[in-house]
Amino acid sequence: MAVNILAFGPNGSGKGTQGAIVKEKYGVNHIESGAIFREHIKGGTELGMKAKEYIDKGDLVPDEITIPMVLETLAKSKEHGWLLDGFPRSKAQAEALDKSLKEANMSLDYVLEIQLDRQIAAERIMGRRLCANDNNHPNHIAFEAIKPVEKDGKLVCRVCGGELSARPDDQDTDAINKRHDIYYDDVTGTMAAVNYFKNAGGARVISVDGSISIKEVTDAIMKELV
Ligand code: AMP
Repeated sequence: MAVNILAFGPNGSGKGTQGAIVKEKYGVNHIESGAIFREHIKGGTELGMKAKEYIDKGDLVPDEITIPMVLETLAKSKEHGWLLDGFPRSKAQAEALDKSLKEANMSLDYVLEIQLDRQIAAERIMGRRLCANDNNHPNHIAFEAIKPVEKDGKLVCRVCGGELSARPDDQDTDAINKRHDIYYDDVTGTMAAVNYFKNAGGARVISVDGSISIKEVTDAIMKELV
């Protein structure tokens, strides 16, 4: 049976890094809303152009664009199973997702939450680097375990040697702050979505401390995954 997982964690918590590992364990599709938007931006699509103005500022892309985009991608992964990352980011998105899962007769097996203090999360963001070849190749200039390598005087992806870049929204303090305001908001923001699915029952909840080493976080998660 396909395994379906929701992954939560503030920007900078290591959610992408751990998500890539969990994805490998189950062979599920890694559906990352932010990465889908970035693909659209790279491809110069209309959706990408609309989304970019919000993304660069750290604002949420409006629900009428985001919700159908994610739910359509999810429906295509029904047979395969999925790890959904970056969605839902608000209570409204959580309710839309819950409704859609019920309608599609899809179960939710795990809710994975990486907990991290806002200050530490913010400090980690600027050092992240994005691999041009694969979104599932995490690189960070300050973490030995995922440090980029040097080639011809340039830092390249430690996994595939691909070109690295820094996301514009990761180098902008206002955009970082806005994203964290949204994440830690437990009334209508992402923490409200986390609590919504934690309280819904059914799924197994895994909450791990994201302040320890990458390997320790992975071990803590793997221990809980059946
Ligand atoms: P991320 O890669 O998860 O940090 O997402 C990058 C940006 O994409 C966010 O700051 C938002 O502008 C946009 N985005 C990603 N996921 C969502 C979502 N679920 N709802 C609205 N906007 C989103």
